[in-house]
Amino acid sequence: MDLSYGAEAEAFRADVQRFLADNIPDGFVYGALDSAEAHAWAEDWRKTMAANGMIGVTWPVEYGGRGLPKIAQVVLAEECAKSGVPWARNIDATTLKMMGNTFLRWGTEAQKRRFLPGIIAGTEDWVQGYSEPDAGSDLAALGLRAHREGDEWVLNGQKIWTSRGELGHWIFTLARTNPDAAKHRGISFLLVPMDQPGIEVRPIVTSTGEAEFSEVFFDDARTAADNILGEVDGGWVVANSLLGLERGEEAATNPILFKGELDRIIELARTHGRTGDPVIRQRIAWCYSKVEIMRILGYRILTQWLADGELGPASSIAKLYWSEYHQVATDLALEIMGIGGLVREGRKPSRQMRADEVGAPNSNNAWIDIFLLNARSGTVYAGTSEIQRNILGERVLGLPREPR
Ligand SMILES: Cc1cc2nc3c(=O)[nH]c(=O)nc-3n(C[C@H](O)[C@H](O)[C@H](O)COP(=O)(O)OP(=O)(O)OC[C@H]3O[C@@H](n4cnc5c(N)ncnc54)[C@H](O)[C@@H]3O)c2cc1C
Repeated sequence: MDLSYGAEAEAFRADVQRFLADNIPDGFVYGALDSAEAHAWAEDWRKTMAANGMIGVTWPVEYGGRGLPKIAQVVLAEECAKSGVPWARNIDATTLKMMGNTFLRWGTEAQKRRFLPGIIAGTEDWVQGYSEPDAGSDLAALGLRAHREGDEWVLNGQKIWTSRGELGHWIFTLARTNPDAAKHRGISFLLVPMDQPGIEVRPIVTSTGEAEFSEVFFDDARTAADNILGEVDGGWVVANSLLGLERGEEAATNPILFKGELDRIIELARTHGRTGDPVIRQRIAWCYSKVEIMRILGYRILTQWLADGELGPASSIAKLYWSEYHQVATDLALEIMGIGGLVREGRKPSRQMRADEVGAPNSNNAWIDIFLLNARSGTVYAGTSEIQRNILGERVLGLPREPR
């Protein structure tokens, strides 16, 4: 078994390490920034990354990338995770990873030339308009309608849970363009500018007190007729391929980030005088083993991703594994802190920061608001645990399909 990434990837790793050493000031700790500072820093960092050719490294040169093999993105994400800095801004999970790669796969030449430069530069951000109040796991039940008027699509209806909805310049959305077609047909993948009178974004405040996502209302919202990916009424296949892009290099970075979080849990046990408690010790050892298994599972997922070009249904194993692990690990942190851990005190990290980011603070506020509560959502977004189990049962294990 050869787990090395190869000479070309290692040469690129040296490049990335040099770039990080040259651009991250000595002693800088991203996790030490407060919310506003971290947001501003991540915006600047994104520009520095773009100026140094570190955004879209695997994209073709003609669209602003460097044409490197896919493993380069893994190396870049790994090195950023090790240095405790984000590989891009939070919104880039949607803008770059999902929408950028979807343009590469499905976009016309004109669309790639129009949209990819703004994505690389970070000047045009994208948000995801899939879920609706009555269409989540059963996404094809969606009711947002779109019809043609002259050379425009006109949209009416509602989306919900749109992450960072207020920051998007564009929303990619699924709309029913043929109400007479079968459920999974008659849906089109439309690209809609957010800054127009027909769109209203209403932020939803969560239990952490922050508005992480929004409702988006379409009231005669308009977009040009050619702002569509794939065929008219044929958006379902585009929508699914985009969902497959949400994972990928995280198979390599998750073990690094979760190991960082576990180190903080061990630190918590020290500061709360719990390291002698045999039950706590046992639970920490359990977490350690799980993170190691995650690392090895990650190699398997990565191997498939690099070989096949996309992640098949087996990627549900990784999603299920990390999201359920994270809830147990954050429960352990609260157990260590005891009842006092429920008192909100200390610095609250930025929402820019991933819950498990290296260098994040170890305050009560951080654990309760960001890590503990946030970890609950991991088994819901990007497909709930029940849906992942359905996918594994039906499409990996070949069990009988559930009645539909
Ligand atoms: C933090 C966060 C960010 C999000 N960001 C976005 C975003 O940017 N854009 C977007 O479009 N959406 C987003 N979502 C929405 C997310 O995709 C949905 O919440 C998710 O698909 C589940 O849909 P639902 O909430 O309607 O729950 P439902 O589908 O109503 O499910 C309710 C419960 O029933 C279970 N269930 C449903 N169907 C089955 C079944 N067939 N078998 C067994 N159990 C089943 C589910 O597992 C769940 O426990 C986000 C959600 C979260 C939490």
